[in-house]
Amino acid sequence: MERTVRVRFAPSPTGPLHIGGVRTALYNYLFARQHGGQMILRIEDTDQTRFVPGAEQYIIEALTWLGIEFDEGVHVGGNYGPYRQSDRKPMYRQYAEQLIADGHAYYAFDRPEELEAKRKEYEALKQTFQYDCHTRSTMCNSLTLSDDEVQRRIKSGEPYVVRFKFPADTLITVHDLIRGDVTMNSNLLDDKVLFKSDGMPTYHLANIVDDHTMEVSHVIRGEEWLPSAPLHVMLYRAFGWEDTMPQFAHLPLLLKPEGNGKLSKRDGDRLGFPVFPLDWQDPKTGEMSSGYRERGYLPQAVVNMLALLGWNPGTEQEILSMEELIKLFSIEHISKSGAKFNVEKARWFNHEYIQMMPNEELANLFMPQLQAHGIQADMDYVVKVCGLMKERISFPTELWDHTAYFFQAPTSYDEAAVRKRWKPGMTTHMAHMIELLQTLPFEYDVLHHAILDDYIAANGYNTGQIMNSFRLALVGETKGPDLLTLVMLLGKDETTTRLQRAIDTIGERSDN
Ligand code: GLU
Repeated sequence: MERTVRVRFAPSPTGPLHIGGVRTALYNYLFARQHGGQMILRIEDTDQTRFVPGAEQYIIEALTWLGIEFDEGVHVGGNYGPYRQSDRKPMYRQYAEQLIADGHAYYAFDRPEELEAKRKEYEALKQTFQYDCHTRSTMCNSLTLSDDEVQRRIKSGEPYVVRFKFPADTLITVHDLIRGDVTMNSNLLDDKVLFKSDGMPTYHLANIVDDHTMEVSHVIRGEEWLPSAPLHVMLYRAFGWEDTMPQFAHLPLLLKPEGNGKLSKRDGDRLGFPVFPLDWQDPKTGEMSSGYRERGYLPQAVVNMLALLGWNPGTEQEILSMEELIKLFSIEHISKSGAKFNVEKARWFNHEYIQMMPNEELANLFMPQLQAHGIQADMDYVVKVCGLMKERISFPTELWDHTAYFFQAPTSYDEAAVRKRWKPGMTTHMAHMIELLQTLPFEYDVLHHAILDDYIAANGYNTGQIMNSFRLALVGETKGPDLLTLVMLLGKDETTTRLQRAIDTIGERSDN
């Protein structure tokens, strides 16, 4: 029988969620939705020393912003909870004890200073100490101590850990949906700590117990967990859960733009792009990290960009909505090699999504910027300005720089442009423009004909000089959209006022 698809995103709340983690969550989500399965958010906080307040909230807020929804999890509940490992603490001990009883794990009493001494001893021989099938018989654990002694130590409250007992000389194969079979020799693997005497499991034990009890069918996670996968496979085997073991897919790394090494916050700072979804302030150091949201990225653009970093739909299509991604996603099309982050591409996606955005929505984003500049504008007008100017921007935050003159008349005029365009006689030409505006019907075609054909062409005037001077009067510089479109938007009164002000301010320039 086909198994119900159940996947989980299982972050540790140790700080802001890296964009690579967001991609992991996204791929899980796409996979779950495509198969009509469930998506779980589990918080893996067994390592209390790395716990950072606010991180869990941040993760939830970031994924909600991006439209990555969960069917079960810390914030939405579900039938397999609790979904925070610290809240599941009481249930892990029995599993550690089961492994010990079955001979798959053992108590180890080695004190930190003893382990340190061992490490030093090996270092002196230019070797690395590993607690494994070769060395465990020389250490202080339930394999070397008598049962009575082990019981005595536990009863007297001596600290211990429970370690996994890797069998010697065993080939362990992890079947990975992206990489195929990955085989490791158990002799190379260390007997990882699974449980500590304070009752807390480590990541490895909690992760396997939870994936099993939450009936997770597929583990889709970052490549950095591939080295742990042989231990995980062995744990499923030791528990007798191998026939319901999830299938594994280890995602390639997100690389620096240059391609050498993992994308880090430092790369983002260096090249001016965020590596986190939302702004974050470290509660201990106060250090700020910038986020995609606050930089003006649209969630759909971030999702589209991330989906294509390490996966492709098998076609050249680049603009893909969440619905299309859900339809097209396939683990077979995830690449084995790392995906280089591309800042230009990120901006390009945002630009494309701004073009697709309804002008009303863009205007809503623009309103607070206008208010911050002390401008009370009419919504209809702002919508029109957005529609006209959005092709020039990649971020809503760039709107003001490109459109300020739609909302406030220029107070100065670009001197180089004045010198180049405002030739003697220009005040007369501009006065004529005012006259045309005041006497003719205020319509694009009428004005176009009257200015360009009847006035400029018929008299043999220089089109560039007159039109650019007109533009200078309206904008203050020689930039902006089609001139008469701008005139239509500004309206008759505002246009004539600006023309008159330019005439008065620049005056007759006989020096040009
Ligand atoms: N807690 C692990 C992390 O922070 C989860 C790894 C896994 O998905 O198994 O990435």
